[in-house]
Amino acid sequence: MSGAASAPTVGRFAPSPTGPLHFGSLVAALASFCDARAAGGRWLVRIEDVDEPRAVPGAERDILDTLARYGFAADGPVVRQSERDALYAEAIAALDARGLAYPCACTRRELEAAPLSPTGERVYPGTCRQGIPVDRVTRARRSIRVRVDDAVVGFVDRLQGPQRQDLAREVGDFVVRRSDGLAAYQLAVVVDDAEQRVTHVVRGADLLASTPRQIHVQRVLGLATPAYLHVPIAINASGEKLSKQTHARALPDDPLPALVAAWRFLEQPDAAPATLADFWAHAFASWSPARLPPVAMLPAPRMALAV
Ligand code: GLU
Repeated sequence: MSGAASAPTVGRFAPSPTGPLHFGSLVAALASFCDARAAGGRWLVRIEDVDEPRAVPGAERDILDTLARYGFAADGPVVRQSERDALYAEAIAALDARGLAYPCACTRRELEAAPLSPTGERVYPGTCRQGIPVDRVTRARRSIRVRVDDAVVGFVDRLQGPQRQDLAREVGDFVVRRSDGLAAYQLAVVVDDAEQRVTHVVRGADLLASTPRQIHVQRVLGLATPAYLHVPIAINASGEKLSKQTHARALPDDPLPALVAAWRFLEQPDAAPATLADFWAHAFASWSPARLPPVAMLPAPRMALAV
């Protein structure tokens, strides 16, 4: 892990403010917090509101209040992606200076006709790679893509094991600046993790397939690659990830039962803490990544689903 081995551990939790925290977010918050604290490291909170149109008013406040009530304490100021566009612009300019970025005028509808990779990703067919085709040059809305060339990205996830992605075949050149002018998640997350000196990324396994894209951006920008650990995501009875779209229940006011349920979900050494303070003392002392279930998804406990 270039640079990460000797650096002090820095973890982070990066919720998108699209609604209240639910059990799935709690699992990611808990795993990242315990992982950083058990290593004597720092833990940061970053509000991922880069997709401003999707941000819900009041959601950030609600998320931060819930984290505080549950006993999560960030070791530094909360940062917001909506305030960091200058950093993203700098990174995109650096890609451009290396000849690795180009404008793309394809519409979403046109791209819907593109083939799917074996993992179900839409592969960009390279339409604008050699320049925007004449029939599209008058279009004002353009995204910016990064070239993947022949990059095959491999990494070893601390839980899910060895991963490998042939970017050209499985993803294609991907968007770093959207056609509405906003930085794309894949770019913003890399810039933020590097700028915040994050050494250990712990998050849900739904982002496992995004990681090679992020490592590609790190490599072409000369940034360190953090260690990655992707925990199982919580799914409902229909096999869907808990999310706002699947009407996941907001976390309850009382933190202890939910934290204990998340701890069990992660198959950590059992405990019956009487208080929130007891829970955290036990969690930091007994966090065991080796006991985490090495799977991509697991059924959420009943308390996360009942309405
Ligand atoms: N903002 C993303 C989410 O809420 C998490 C991104 C990440 O942890 O890298 O799903």
